[in-house]
Amino acid sequence: MNVRDSEHMIAELNCKEPYELTQELKEADLIIINTCSVREKPVSKLFSEIGVFNKFKKKDAKIGVTGCTASHLGKDIIKRAPVVDFVLGARNISKITQVVDKRHAVEIDINYDDSSYAFGEYRSNGFKSMVNISMGCDKSCTYCIVPATRGDEVSIPSNLIINEIEKAVKTGAKEVMLLGQNVNNYGKYFTANDEKCNFTKLLQKVSKIEGLERIRFTSPHPLHMDDEFLEEFASNPKLCKQIHVPLQSGSSSLLKSMRRGYSKEWFINRCEKIRELCPEATISTDIIVGFPGESEEDFEDTMDVLEKVRFEQLFSFKYSPRPHTDAAEFDRQISNEVSGARLTKLQARHTEILDEIMDGQMGAEHMVYFDELKAGGKVSGRSDDGKLFFVEGSEELLGKIKKVKVTKTSRGALEGIVCA
Ligand code: SAH
Ligand code: SF4
Repeated sequence: MNVRDSEHMIAELNCKEPYELTQELKEADLIIINTCSVREKPVSKLFSEIGVFNKFKKKDAKIGVTGCTASHLGKDIIKRAPVVDFVLGARNISKITQVVDKRHAVEIDINYDDSSYAFGEYRSNGFKSMVNISMGCDKSCTYCIVPATRGDEVSIPSNLIINEIEKAVKTGAKEVMLLGQNVNNYGKYFTANDEKCNFTKLLQKVSKIEGLERIRFTSPHPLHMDDEFLEEFASNPKLCKQIHVPLQSGSSSLLKSMRRGYSKEWFINRCEKIRELCPEATISTDIIVGFPGESEEDFEDTMDVLEKVRFEQLFSFKYSPRPHTDAAEFDRQISNEVSGARLTKLQARHTEILDEIMDGQMGAEHMVYFDELKAGGKVSGRSDDGKLFFVEGSEELLGKIKKVKVTKTSRGALEGIVCA
């Protein structure tokens, strides 16, 4: 989502202001640091980065801080680092052209309605496009700062989404990634009540776009994975067979104190349903270890879900207490040592599972969409189920979907030869 926000800002600055992108820090007239605040680490990195940019930048170059850390720290960023010229929150990025020349402007209204905006166009990869379908989040997971930085949830009208995808397809994109914090809750909140469209219906509308061949989406919430949605996922050939099902914890009592709204049994049942309806699908997940009150038993429940579902991809984190969240005030915070040991155990077991999964790919055939030239005469792309592929080839492969046979496996990627 941050990558897409950055693209939006670049587009606005390209179209309405005399800015273009540079990779050379010393050439830049404007440096924008687009931030995350989900965990503490990126926040502390921000201030050291401001220092580095300030040291090496051109004398009059401006520095702007945008994104979620901008939303929650606001003017304190300028107090702590007066070299910063403006602060623009995650929900306010459409205002980039309004703040760029306003010294010490701070725009961080989390309920600003951006839903009808039309940004200029910029895509970092011409073969794929990312399109926001909703903003903000209506959940209140007790560990999560996102509702405080991205505000109330609002869905973007489906005709605007379709228009944006059609524009991207006309300029060469065959794949779209639909974006939202709570993407399959789409349609619950529109600013105008002119539309009734849920996520499943939106997927059906999007898949009618001619020339669009692949649809991905992130992040869905396990709670909203009803049968209707999973059946659409399994049967619609344009929907890529890769789904993120963020677990967070395998313990039902911890899930309750995280306020996730589902139990261990519901989660396993949804994953079994995906495996049953769509055996070729890959499932990825997010897991937090060391959430306040996490006992050895709770952690073993998480390990148990890992064994049962055998996720193809795992993003795992040590719990990080965040401002504006309930869990930061909970008793029984877990020590860094215990969290660290649990994270190591979880990741080590997942690595074994992943090795087994990837070894089993030898000789398999996948349809791969090639979208990037790599060094050494290689081209990379992704299979429908999200696996990263490298093959020998040239730009002729770019933008094409080809059948590839796996000739070499490794944990992170597969190598193969193009069959047809
Ligand atoms: N909307 C997405 C989550 C976005 S945040 C969802 O519900 O899945 C991305 C991931 O960061 C979360 O899934 C969670 O695993 C992790 N995360 C969020 N807050 C965290 C915290 N305080 N400490 C550690 N990890 C956190
Ligand atoms: Fe955060 Fe929960 Fe919303 Fe995801 S669903 S963004 S974890 S509050």
